[in-house]
Amino acid sequence: MRPDKQIILSPADARRPAAVPDAVRPIVKWIQNRPMRRAAAKTKPLLRGTLIDLDGWWPFPDFPDWEFREANLAVWCPHCATFHYHGWDTWDDGAVVEHRESDSNDSAESGYYVSVWRQSDPGYSAHIVKPGTIILRERQAAAQQKDLAHAQ
Ligand SMILES: [Zn+2]
Repeated sequence: MRPDKQIILSPADARRPAAVPDAVRPIVKWIQNRPMRRAAAKTKPLLRGTLIDLDGWWPFPDFPDWEFREANLAVWCPHCATFHYHGWDTWDDGAVVEHRESDSNDSAESGYYVSVWRQSDPGYSAHIVKPGTIILRERQAAAQQKDLAHAQ
């Protein structure tokens, strides 16, 4: 596999075993079996927002030979009347809710919950990548070692 080769599974593909390459089947299973995070208490606002771009590649803790891409989530903050930006795992859809500390310097703002627009929300079409998408690639060093071994 080329070092730069990405595997992109749409939300629908990720649910169809036949569409998932053998090499990443354990990873997809791990993602799908993760406990869903929801807001524990409704004491703070829930800000839904848009996945505006893709961030760097991150190592997969449980699968050291693989990396995944993270997205940037922009949420509109009514407290600050501006957008705040947070990292978001692309495979988490609008059913997942996570707590974030504000990236503003306003000490009166003690955090909030964030999530992504759901399919039923008007903002859904603005996502640069649809929530629920899995983007993976073999870790660069691991892929290069394999290529070297193959060439010998
Ligand atoms: Zn704010």
